[in-house]
Amino acid sequence: MELKENCGITGVYGNKKAAEIIHSALFSLQHRGQESCGIITGSGKNHSSAMGMGLVSDVFKPACMKTLRGHFGIGHVRYSTTGSSSPKNIQPFIAEYRGKTYAISHNGNLVNSTSLRRSLEKRGSIFRTSLDTEIIMHMIMMSRKESFIEKILDVLPEIKGAFSLVFFSPEGIVAAKDPWSFRPLCLGKLEEGYMVASESCAFDFAGASYIRELEPGEVLVIDGKGIKSILPEKRVRTARCIFEFIYFARPDSRVFGESVYHARKKLGENLAKEFPHTGEMVIPIPDSGSISAIGFSQKKGLPFEMGIVRNHYVGRTFIQPLQESREKSVRIKLNPIKEVIGGKDIVVIEDSIVRGTTSRMRITDLRKSGAKKIYMGVSCPPIRHPCFYGIDFPDSRQLIAGKKSVKEIEKEIGVDGLIYLSMESMLASIRLPGEEFCTACFTGEYPVPCGSQARLKKERFETGRRGKE
Ligand code: 5GP
Ligand code: MG
Repeated sequence: MELKENCGITGVYGNKKAAEIIHSALFSLQHRGQESCGIITGSGKNHSSAMGMGLVSDVFKPACMKTLRGHFGIGHVRYSTTGSSSPKNIQPFIAEYRGKTYAISHNGNLVNSTSLRRSLEKRGSIFRTSLDTEIIMHMIMMSRKESFIEKILDVLPEIKGAFSLVFFSPEGIVAAKDPWSFRPLCLGKLEEGYMVASESCAFDFAGASYIRELEPGEVLVIDGKGIKSILPEKRVRTARCIFEFIYFARPDSRVFGESVYHARKKLGENLAKEFPHTGEMVIPIPDSGSISAIGFSQKKGLPFEMGIVRNHYVGRTFIQPLQESREKSVRIKLNPIKEVIGGKDIVVIEDSIVRGTTSRMRITDLRKSGAKKIYMGVSCPPIRHPCFYGIDFPDSRQLIAGKKSVKEIEKEIGVDGLIYLSMESMLASIRLPGEEFCTACFTGEYPVPCGSQARLKKERFETGRRGKE
């Protein structure tokens, strides 16, 4: 069974310090995946790679970095969402073909991988991983076209769903994006050479300047001949993931060409306009609620207080596959300050509610710390439907808003008032046209059909299986 992923990817071409740059890019993309990471670099003649389970700082020690040579390469940080952490699924996925080495880093989730894998297996393909990324590599090498680029162009129309990809070949790197543009991928200029990355924050640390977001369906070839863009003949309706702005991306990044900070702040401002309650202060649930809380407090004219402190040595709590460990790390991660909130009526701002587990625990903790009235604002609409394009949203039955009304959720998490941002205001918060986003997790309208994926998810839920391994 393929894994659902939202990850961070990067690639560099034309710089002697390629490995170092990729390393720093992965550091700044760490929030996109903390399970495993990897780098492959090369010079055309030779290549070297290093990868492992865990954080970038754990995997790439100085001695290991010294082994990575060459003027180009790609990297990956992985966020597996099925609970099956397996070293064999670490990316970049590397393959040998006719005596040459190729590799691929993938962010996103294919919706037709089950049928693609089945038809490859019928023809005798064997697989080493449960990644849908491996399917892409197989298909490319099986294409009858001659060159690697032609093979890629031949195969991309066959794969459906979300994919931002960076390939490594003996000639250089190739970046590609699905025609719906589900996941971000942008191009930057280094003093020497070019780089691509999921988010522009990776450029800041690598000393690159932002050029632009890749176009939907674009294939960008970066090699000794320079940089070449190949655009699809036909454009489809784009379906950029709006959740990148709400939660996933870093606020110091541009994704899809837009500042995440500005969009997030606007989400908070618009929420303030729709928020009927008031309190003595606005408190963000850090870190993901912080920027919208700033927008909210400025719009409402209420003081902003950091009434909850975040322990920075605990990672993103969703990364914990088991509910028990998730609950424990939520407690360790966030601690309310009694001296700030004791005896006060407060408005807490959260970016999103998914299962409702962490929200309930946080509200309980805020009550214990002496908060009087607690109103909660959420800077997106209720998440009612699973995501098949790479965000870690479970089956509808595990999504609190999948089965409960806003009033019921308000009661369950124990707040005195719960307000979600409306769909219109969410879309109006981002400068890109609203109809160009994927909002399937709110509406259930899936821009690319994903029937078999939906069935799989249901099966997994019913049998209690979270992954194949
Ligand atoms: P809940 O209260 O529903 O259990 O969890 C909501 C919290 O999870 C919010 O604070 C939100 O920032 C965070 N969250 C939402 N989506 C994701 C995701 O895809 N990955 C991670 N790591 N956290 C998420
Ligand atoms: Mg959060």
